[in-house]
Parts: sequence; structure tokens; C-alpha cells
Amino acid sequence: MQLTLPPGLSPQAFDAAVKALQGAVGAGWVMTTDEDRDAYADIYAPGPETLWGASGAVAPQTVEEIQAIVRIANEHKLPLWTVSRGKNLGYGTAAPRMPGCMVLDLGRMDKIIELDPELGYCVLEPGVGFIDLYERIQQDKLPLMMSVPGNGWGSVLGNALEHGIGYTPYGLNAKNLCGLEVVLGTGDLVRTGIGAMEKNQAWNLFPFGYGPTWDLMFSQSNFGIVTKAGMWLMPEPETSLELNLDIPKAEDIGWVVDTLTPLKLHGIIDQSIFIPSWLGKMVILGQRQDFWDKPSAIPEWRVQELLKEHKLGYWKVQIRLYGDETVNKAKAEIVKAAFKKHIDTPMQEVWWRRGDPTNVMDLTLGVPSAVPLQMGNWVGGKAAHMGFSPVVPATGKHVLDQMTRSRKIIDAHDVDFYASFTIGGRFCNNVNMLMYDRDKPEQVEGIKKLFNALIADAAANGYAEYRTHLGWMDAISDTFNFNDHALRRMNEKVKDVLDPNGILSPGKQGIWPTAYAAQRGKN
Ligand code: ADP
Repeated sequence: MQLTLPPGLSPQAFDAAVKALQGAVGAGWVMTTDEDRDAYADIYAPGPETLWGASGAVAPQTVEEIQAIVRIANEHKLPLWTVSRGKNLGYGTAAPRMPGCMVLDLGRMDKIIELDPELGYCVLEPGVGFIDLYERIQQDKLPLMMSVPGNGWGSVLGNALEHGIGYTPYGLNAKNLCGLEVVLGTGDLVRTGIGAMEKNQAWNLFPFGYGPTWDLMFSQSNFGIVTKAGMWLMPEPETSLELNLDIPKAEDIGWVVDTLTPLKLHGIIDQSIFIPSWLGKMVILGQRQDFWDKPSAIPEWRVQELLKEHKLGYWKVQIRLYGDETVNKAKAEIVKAAFKKHIDTPMQEVWWRRGDPTNVMDLTLGVPSAVPLQMGNWVGGKAAHMGFSPVVPATGKHVLDQMTRSRKIIDAHDVDFYASFTIGGRFCNNVNMLMYDRDKPEQVEGIKKLFNALIADAAANGYAEYRTHLGWMDAISDTFNFNDHALRRMNEKVKDVLDPNGILSPGKQGIWPTAYAAQRGKN
């Protein structure tokens, strides 16, 4: 990819900034060739990659190097875009919101600083991947279980900072963050919570501080660069019991959610409960063309045939209980009784006991995997996907309402309907995977139109997205419109104070610093 300069920066000024960065981290860690830029491009971009093209990347190894980079970025007015490992697939990967930003790639900072099985926490640098942490826990035989998202290649901190979700009782990954160290746009280094006290012994354990609690202000945010953070890990349970059930019809999701939410709120089920639709299983069996050879969306009659042929329900309910065997057995009886009120099919039981091997698909046992990424290949060609992910209250009424409306819109745009619901507490994350072939411009245009229609419809009905692709950060931010976007106005005041030149991730989540305010709404 050719060089895109950041707004307002001349080629000479850019070269001077690059030279200064080379001085700070070594020439080999400042990457500005066309191939380098390709490596940081959004491989799933809905449109040309240049819309979100980086000017290059810089990869520091220490906090001091980050501070030096921030100093240089301020001096030269070079905007940066922070990533940990940059595997944010479907949401922009490593690419920046504003073209021309230099990616600040923290992948080399990959130390596991602490790993404590007694209190169940670790302190990590941003470059530590799920697989790295998993391997270390296995190697040291520590009784800890991780919470992993669908994409096991990513960064533990990057995913938590982006509000990623996992499927164990610790599934709300951002909630496990405790005690952050952050470089601000001014170059200042701060520690949040009680870590603000030099050498505090409990800063990764106590979730508050003395005074306001700032940890999550650095999540889905451009207020700082997180250089290390504490993260809670679940003690490995003695046993775990999986209860599987195929649910036949799409509309059944209503009673399924009304059955599961009370069990979740009463603590019978602790995990974040993932309920994928049939397509979640199908994408692993082959490509779309193997099951439906026309470009149009798979029609309902063919869906029904496929469910029969492959012995699938419309939904797959996989509940996992964690803990002592006696407790799990008792909980299982309560869960089974609740489902029996609606369906005769018995739940299939699969026990796991500490020390048993796990397979690569066991996301619910905290095993990182890339298998769920298989769906990337569903449409073939230059296959890509985007997630439309509204948050809805965890009741059957809301879930059915959202599903019916979004399904109608997705059908009308002739795209395959692939929904999942994850009950994380009093809410569900409803992720709708929209898959397309990047080589087919009409598909890309269709997906963009569809995405806009879905956002508008959800907002009109009082539902918001929890996360989005770079190209819709402003559009989603616009839907947060209470009191003339009071929260965005507050965020942008804070942004200007903490980062006066607006050099950190401008436009992230629709938060624009004054320095680049003219870029709002572009791309
Ligand atoms: P992953 O590799 O797990 O998918 P990324 O590194 O792509 O995670 O990070 C996802 C997003 O989270 C980034 O686009 C960025 O906005 C934010 N982020 C990641 N790491 C940091 C960090 N160290 N400090 C601040 N924000 C971060």
C-alpha cells in the first residue's frame, strides 16, 4: 500500500518524524515500506484498505521507548494508533481509524510479569497473546482457567480493552482488568487504582482506588496507551459439566433466554452463555457453495433441509457448569428441570475433570482456538466479515424483537442470517455476522448499506452496538445522542486535556481531538 500521510503533515515533516522514531527505537522497528503498510492493513476492510491506511508502524519494547515515541509524535504532530497485537478481526484488525496514523504496535512487549495461582491474577504486557498465556499456565501446571474469545490469536489485554467477551464465568473480559499502567498523550506515566501508591502490594487485586476509579476510561478509548495491566483469572474448577441441547426453531430463542436468564441471575449458571445459530456449526463443515450454489441468501426451505440433513437444531445451547462435582450435579438438575418445561429432548451431558485433556474447540474451558475464525471462509473469494452487535436486555421479548427486526432487514438485503446471542448477565450481546467477498464490489456496497440500515433500526428501537468496525465509529457514536451527545462532549473535553495535540488514536470510538476534529465523519 502506498504512503498516506496524516492530515496536515508534509512529506518532509513525515520523514523527519520517521528519523526521530528510528533514533528512539532503532531503524529496524520503524516500518514504512509499502509491504509494511500492507501488513497493518485491514484484511477484511469493507472497501479499499487505503480508507484506513496506516503511514507505517513503530514497535517499541519498553515503557521508556513508548514515552520517547509520544514525545516525538507531539513534536512532529504525527498521530499514532495503538494496538496490542492488532488481531481485532472484523473490527479493523491493526488499521487506524484516521488514515495516515502510524500504528503503535505493542506486540514486542510480551512479558508475563506476574502469574499468581493463589489469588488468581496475572500482570501482563500488551503483547501477551491468549496462546502465550495458555501455554505458560499449562507448562507451569497452574490451577487457573482463562477466559478466551473466538479469536485465540489476539492479545489478552487488547481484547479486554476492546470489551471482548469469553464464555466462562469470567466472560466479561474488561471486568477482569484491575490496575492499569498507562502513558498519556502528554507522555506522563500513571497507574490507576491503588497502584497510584508507589510499590502498592494489592493494586491488581482491589478493583477501586482512593477516589474516582479510572481503569475502564482506558478501554475502547484513546485517552492513553496501556503499558501493563492486572487481569483476574478464574481458579481452575475441580470439574465441569457441559449440558448440550439442540433447539429446533428460530422463535424458540425467546423461551430459551427467558429460561436461562433467571438461572444466570440466581447463580445456578455462572458462565457467559453463548447461543449460536445453526450457521455457526455449518461454517465448520464447509463453504457456502457446498450447501447453496446461488449468490442469493439461503432461503428458508433450504435452511430447513440443511438442518435435517446435518441433524442440527436452529440454535445450539451449550451450558457449562464449573465447580465441585456435587454442586455441578445439583445445578444440572435445576437446569434440566427448567428446560423440561419447554422441551422433551434430554440434555446431553459431558463431564470434564481436572487433568482431563481438552480439545481445541473448548472455548468454554478457556482453551484458545482459531477454529471459530473458520467462518471467514464461508463465502469464498476474498472472504471477510463484519459484526453487527447490538446489546439487548436479556428477556425473550427483547431478544425476539431484535431478532425479528434485524432478520427482516438482513433478508431484505439478501444476505445469509447468522446470529448468536451471549447472555452475559442482565443483557445479551447479539452478534450478527455479516459475511462478504471483498472481491465483489456489489457485495461490499450491499453490506455497507445493510450495516447502516441495521444501526438506524436498532437505535430507533433503543438498542446500541457494543463494538464496531472503524468505518462506523462515528455513526455509532452519533446514536449515543442523549442531551445533544453530552457524553461525547465530555469525552472530547477530557481528550483535549490529556492529549492536547490529539496524537493518540484520533477518532477512536468517535472521540475526536480538536486537532483533527475536521476528520469526523470521513470514511
Ligand atoms: P487483539 O489483538 O486482541 O484483537 P488489538 O491489539 O487489535 O487486540 O486491540 C484492539 C483495540 O483495543 C485496538 O484497536 C485499540 O483501540 C485498543 N487497544 C489495544 N491495545 C491497547 C493498549 N495497549 N492501550 C490502549 N488501547 C489499546
